[in-house]
Amino acid sequence: MQFFYWNNGFEIGIPEIDVQHRGLVDLINALAAVIVEGGALPDAQALLGRLMEYAEVHFGGEERLMDTCPLDEEEKIRHREAHRRFVEKAQEILLRPDLMHTEVAEQVLEFLTTWLISHILHSDMKIAQAIAHKEPGITGDSQRFFEISPVERLLLGALTETERRFRLIADNASVLIWVSDATGKRGFFNRAWCDFVGVKEELAHKVDWTEFVHPDDRTAYQAKISALLIDLQPVETEYRLRNSNGSYHWLLERIRPRIDFNNVFLGLVSAATDISNIKQAEVLINQSSFDLEKQIAERTEQLELLMLMDPLTGVGNRRQLSRRLNEEVIRAHRYQRPLTVVFFDIDHFKRVNDTYGHAIGDVALVRVAESLGTGLRDCDLLCRFGGEEFIIVLPETRIDNAYIVAERMREDIARMSIPEIPGAITISAGLAELMMDESDEQLVVRCDKALYRAKETGRNRCCMDEPE
Ligand code: GH3
Ligand code: MG
Ligand code: MG
Repeated sequence: MQFFYWNNGFEIGIPEIDVQHRGLVDLINALAAVIVEGGALPDAQALLGRLMEYAEVHFGGEERLMDTCPLDEEEKIRHREAHRRFVEKAQEILLRPDLMHTEVAEQVLEFLTTWLISHILHSDMKIAQAIAHKEPGITGDSQRFFEISPVERLLLGALTETERRFRLIADNASVLIWVSDATGKRGFFNRAWCDFVGVKEELAHKVDWTEFVHPDDRTAYQAKISALLIDLQPVETEYRLRNSNGSYHWLLERIRPRIDFNNVFLGLVSAATDISNIKQAEVLINQSSFDLEKQIAERTEQLELLMLMDPLTGVGNRRQLSRRLNEEVIRAHRYQRPLTVVFFDIDHFKRVNDTYGHAIGDVALVRVAESLGTGLRDCDLLCRFGGEEFIIVLPETRIDNAYIVAERMREDIARMSIPEIPGAITISAGLAELMMDESDEQLVVRCDKALYRAKETGRNRCCMDEPE
């Protein structure tokens, strides 16, 4: 727990001096820690000794700088006098044997803090102003160098207490907290934030926090903050912050404006929680629901295929035939394109079953389907109409060409050898080309009629439908 909190308001704007002031603050804090935590006397005295040495170096530098600046001569004398009185008082304290007594220790710490603030905020600010404006500084009363008024002391006490309480809460909170000024510059990061990113608390104000934000999230995150600095409405945002292991975690951050009682915008305060687990769960849920949907889609597709397929031969079934034939008939009519259908029926198939058994009959059906399927174009469709009957739909095909195709198929089947069936298997076919305004059913009926004629006239042949 720090005793004295540095904040940007203490910076006088001369970098060398600001660094030295911070050095003094660090030493006072170290001394306070030793005293408050009941450290041994030699430690406290050694620290006080170091503080004095440091103060003397700092005073020397500051006095040299003061000599070069257009500050009122009297002011310079008073400032030197203040330095001297501090050294005197510190030496006096250093020699006290009762330094570790609580009351004395408290007095010492109060002396140091009051001195630090009055020194920085009154005397050194004047040097900074004088240098900045290159004009004589405002002369004040000599007392103010190391004393502050009772009202200021009271306000300072209240502020220090408020600050102390805020720090206590902020540092013990598990959420990541930062505070910025009205320009968005961040001056405070709580312990959880520092631990998360892996920087020392005392160095947090020096690091470039944007470095820890995931490169892909930086632009959107900065844009959110810029918008908030303009419209002053609280926002909630999600972004990735790199932790001390180098891995990025998702944070849910709520940033709100700090507005004082006079409606003056002071800056931003933000609290963030690590939501990586939630994010991870979200990803898993999305992934599994995506996988599930993919699986369902695949299964549905498989099912649809199965619904349209003849399980024995693997060619299209009657459902597929009626669907596709209907589409092809509509298309042929619309674009006035030719379309021919061939109706095949295996000759005397009942005998095959009766002679070799139903199982061999099945083998024959599979082989016939295979043979009919070879040499078909992608746009053609082969379906098992039922039993030992097959239909082939030939889009963009006139009946004469279809006849050549059907004849070739018939010959192939007649030549086919099936080891289990010694005799040849033959097939008959009936062909019909789509006529104007004809429906798919009418077309199939005409095919069937042609097939009937093929059977009637001796089988193992193809017959075209003849106009009545
Ligand atoms: P046709 O030359 O006049 O067509 O004579 P066919 O014997 O082929 O005709 P029919 O309609 O009398 O007999 C068809 C036979 O096809 C009867 C039936 O047992 C058989 N069949 C139908 N479906 C299957 C099947 O899935 N597997 C087997 N092995 N036989 C089937
Ligand atoms: Mg039949
Ligand atoms: Mg038959």
